[in-house]
Amino acid sequence: MNKKQLLEDDLKYIWRPFTQMKSLEKDENKPIIIKKGKGIYLEDIDGNKYIDAVSSWWVNTLGHSNKRINKTITKQLKKIEHVIFGGFSHEPVIEFSKKLVSLMNNKLTKVFFSDNGSTAVEVALKMAYQYHVLKGNPQKRKFVALKNSYHGDTLGAVSVGGVDMYHKLYKPLLFEIEQAESPYCYRCPMGCERNTCKIDCLLSIEKILEKDANNIAGVIIEPLVQAAGGMIMYPAEYITKLRSICDKYNVLLIDDEVAMGFYRTGKLFAYEHAGIVPDIICCAKGITAGYMPLSVTVTTDEIYSAFYDDDVDGYKTFYHGHSYTAYPLALSVALENLKILEEMKIEEYLKPKISKFSKEIEKFRSHKNVGDIRQTGMICAIELVKDKQTKEPFSYEDGIGKKIYLEGLKLGAILRPMWNCIYFITPYIITEKEIEKLTDIAFKALNKVLPNEEK
Ligand SMILES: *Cc1c(COP(=O)(O)O)cnc(C)c1O
Repeated sequence: MNKKQLLEDDLKYIWRPFTQMKSLEKDENKPIIIKKGKGIYLEDIDGNKYIDAVSSWWVNTLGHSNKRINKTITKQLKKIEHVIFGGFSHEPVIEFSKKLVSLMNNKLTKVFFSDNGSTAVEVALKMAYQYHVLKGNPQKRKFVALKNSYHGDTLGAVSVGGVDMYHKLYKPLLFEIEQAESPYCYRCPMGCERNTCKIDCLLSIEKILEKDANNIAGVIIEPLVQAAGGMIMYPAEYITKLRSICDKYNVLLIDDEVAMGFYRTGKLFAYEHAGIVPDIICCAKGITAGYMPLSVTVTTDEIYSAFYDDDVDGYKTFYHGHSYTAYPLALSVALENLKILEEMKIEEYLKPKISKFSKEIEKFRSHKNVGDIRQTGMICAIELVKDKQTKEPFSYEDGIGKKIYLEGLKLGAILRPMWNCIYFITPYIITEKEIEKLTDIAFKALNKVLPNEEK
């Protein structure tokens, strides 16, 4: 089919996520039809190549068309593609679970499977609530979540979400939560400065728990980075302190590692930076290197054993499951991914790249519209502001992110903006040279849209 026909049919038959469909009638908003990918590059049907600076929605880690992963899929396909996970099992799921638990080397020992990040969060919320019920505390059913948080788009996940644009409309359908301040260091809700503060924003959680812990099941966070809320980054110490607050009030700590897990922060899981162990973690995006939908919710023996019972159909059973639970094809990839990462000695492998990013993003600092530069491991974000002194943000109508995105495309990189942030979440296999190239493209795109002339 030719491109014109493809685009016509795309618009005619498909309803896209997070998109006002009418806006797609404009030429500049037409989707780019990707034909293939190799490494960090995507290629469209006209033969244009783009650096995939967003890892195809933060999922890809080993680059596109990785030979070993592709082979793994074909190999597994010859054995079994899918089998019911009630009453049956298969080698990939057993081997993967064992390996994952061994890598966590701590108290997280039981792996529950589903197939996307939102669902991993749903599972965590239900598990946390039921745990308290089984412990004789059925009134503990509220959750604490943060402003600017994003945990997915299913209704439970939306309930604990804190980004108005995505979540507000659905409020009448949601369960009630307690919302705490966001640890947004650049725009501190407490009016503090990061280098002198004592993580004062945690007070807002502590106050909620002090008053209402008896009715609260858990606190849910995105560790180190509130990603979809605007790449808001905060120190690991926050999580360390939050752990003790949760312990003090008998409230579970639910750690949504969907975006940060699988080495995005430089370690397997972001919570490791805080030297603590959460009660439940949710993982998805990088779990299959970006090749198959899969997610897990991992928890402790303590929670698991509260459900363990002789009564097979009693209320201690965890009633949750999906038709694609522990999908063998996805599990074969997840297992191979862990093996590849291990062989790469991934933590060491990422260190020079993380340093290279730190060095290269410095070139943005002197730009008159760059308010803040942030980095956590392999994630970099540059927050643009109208005015550096007042930190006045650009408004949605300014469309700055969009303009930079369009310039980026012309220069060969996908710089999908996040609010007023330019960000990089690239596949791990990006080379130092390519990091230079990508940041140069972003810098050029920024200067094209917002020229940095002397005032
Ligand atoms: C993307 C994301 C989710 C949702 O995952 P999906 O697979 O898109 O449902 C949940 N939590 C966080 C932190 C995320 O970044």
